[in-house]
Amino acid sequence: MSRNNRSWSERDLAVVWHPCSQMKDHEWLPMVPISHGEGPWLYDFDGRRYLDAISSWWVNLFGHAQLRIAGRIAAQARRLEHVLLAGATHQPIIELSERLVKLTPPGLDRVFYADIGSAAVEVALKMSHHYWRNMGRAGKRRFVTLANDYHGETLGALGIGDIALYKQAYGSLFHEALIAPSPDAWQAQPGESAAAFARRQFAGMEAILARHHEDLAAVIVEPLVQCASGMRMYHPVYLSLLRAACERYEVHLIVDEIAVGFGRTGTLFACEQAGITPDFMCLSKGLTGGFLPLAAVLLREPIYQAFYADYRQIERAFLHSHSYTGNPLACVAALATLDLIEEQDIIHANRERARWMAAAAEPLREHPHVGEVRQCGMILAIEMVQTRPRTPYPWQERRGLQVFRYGLEHECWLRPLGNVVYWMPPYVVTEEQIALLGKVTAQAIDHATRD
Ligand SMILES: *Cc1c(COP(=O)(O)O)cnc(C)c1O
Repeated sequence: MSRNNRSWSERDLAVVWHPCSQMKDHEWLPMVPISHGEGPWLYDFDGRRYLDAISSWWVNLFGHAQLRIAGRIAAQARRLEHVLLAGATHQPIIELSERLVKLTPPGLDRVFYADIGSAAVEVALKMSHHYWRNMGRAGKRRFVTLANDYHGETLGALGIGDIALYKQAYGSLFHEALIAPSPDAWQAQPGESAAAFARRQFAGMEAILARHHEDLAAVIVEPLVQCASGMRMYHPVYLSLLRAACERYEVHLIVDEIAVGFGRTGTLFACEQAGITPDFMCLSKGLTGGFLPLAAVLLREPIYQAFYADYRQIERAFLHSHSYTGNPLACVAALATLDLIEEQDIIHANRERARWMAAAAEPLREHPHVGEVRQCGMILAIEMVQTRPRTPYPWQERRGLQVFRYGLEHECWLRPLGNVVYWMPPYVVTEEQIALLGKVTAQAIDHATRD
């Protein structure tokens, strides 16, 4: 049997159910079997290649099949592939925890592990409520998030997020969060600065905190960029105001850095731009450079201490676990990733890449169907609109999908979020590759908006 795209995709479509997809689309939309990857490129079985402009859903940092990370995983697999993390420990998890504590904002001194981002969010939510319960305040059991925030797909994480498309079928199953207005600068009044808008929108959060703080365990936010809802960006002053208000009202602040951590936004962690330390920080995605699932929740020591008690007070202990918690293979992938971040001085190097991205997107700013080009470090988003400045295309027209298809035919893997086309490339893209991305994206948008 020949091993080409067609034969693999036929076999695939007979047995695999793909994530975040309406499978019927594949009656006409090609399924792309990927044979291998190298650097920012993905290769299919027909000999075509694709520049991975979205880092395979934001997980990849240093390119595909990166040799250093692959080598560390292979060596660790021959030594110790896994051991349960209850009652046992191992060198990779100790080293990783020490490094994460050192790299994250001061005050985050303790690390709990999970395997995926959604699970990290669940851990933070449970731990926050359990903390208040241990402090004799069991009534603090609700959560606040921002309009359009996303925190994952498991029931707890989906319930406290605010993306209707992913939630609508499951409404009856949730513990719903309170929703505060988003500081997303795209919604600002003409002439209003992002900072002024963030301050104005904060009044909505303040009102929720003032009214409900007795019942609230935590506020959870995506810092600086609301990724899943279309790379919506906001000013860091919002996080400073939120940190102070959470302190005042005795409500935890959970910062979900799962998508934006590890240098995406121009600093190692997004919340650094507001100079704050949250009570909990959730990490995953880029943590292993995109090789293996691993998630970490960093927290303040006093939270840990509230669970530290005599065994007979068993209700105080955090009895949460996942089978693969702290997997050594994933931990060494993370250690190798942190080595690369340091050795390549990635925060500094990404500033230059971010400038290339800005330059490549510059011509799109004048496009008649582009409402906005916005950027935060290594994330650049282009908002396609029916008419400028802000009349959206109806979602049913699926303009983004046309951009995706055009990209596939021209060596670029763009996977827009609705009408938002974005670049979130691995930290190995060259100036030439970004120029290619700029050229193809502009043509794709012309193509998708021509009638
Ligand atoms: C992707 C994502 C998650 C969920 O992580 P999974 O590993 O997909 O479960 C949570 N929060 C944010 C901000 C994300 O982008």
